[in-house]
Amino acid sequence: MECLFCKIVNKEIPAEIIYEDDNFIVLKDIEPKAPIHLLVVPKKHIPSVNHLELKDKTLIGELFLVAQKIAKEKGVDKTGYRLTLNVGKDAGQTIDHLHLHLMGGGKLPWA
Ligand code: 5GP
Ligand code: ZN
Repeated sequence: MECLFCKIVNKEIPAEIIYEDDNFIVLKDIEPKAPIHLLVVPKKHIPSVNHLELKDKTLIGELFLVAQKIAKEKGVDKTGYRLTLNVGKDAGQTIDHLHLHLMGGGKLPWA
């Protein structure tokens, strides 16, 4: 069975997608923990950092470039933002499809 983010990527379930290109989507987190809380999601199903292969190295570089671009578009590039990538259950990873959290928009307890 396909995972939640694969279903969102394939538009089988709705999400607030604010950016899309050939390899990524960026969507609003359904339970935001910051004024701006976005998820940068590669379209390729990679369960976690533990599953990365050498052939994914360009994709992973691009993941950060997409985050950089969106941070700039959202106007938090100067004020600051946090990029979080949870791996496994102790870190709180709940969706087994690699994704980068982009959080910002104010000094908060998380900062
Ligand atoms: P993780 O805990 O795996 O690092 O992050 C998963 C994130 O996905 C959580 O912050 C959670 O709020 C978000 N999330 C869970 N289900 C959905 C959903 O159906 N739609 C959206 N947009 N975000 C979701
Ligand atoms: Zn997936």
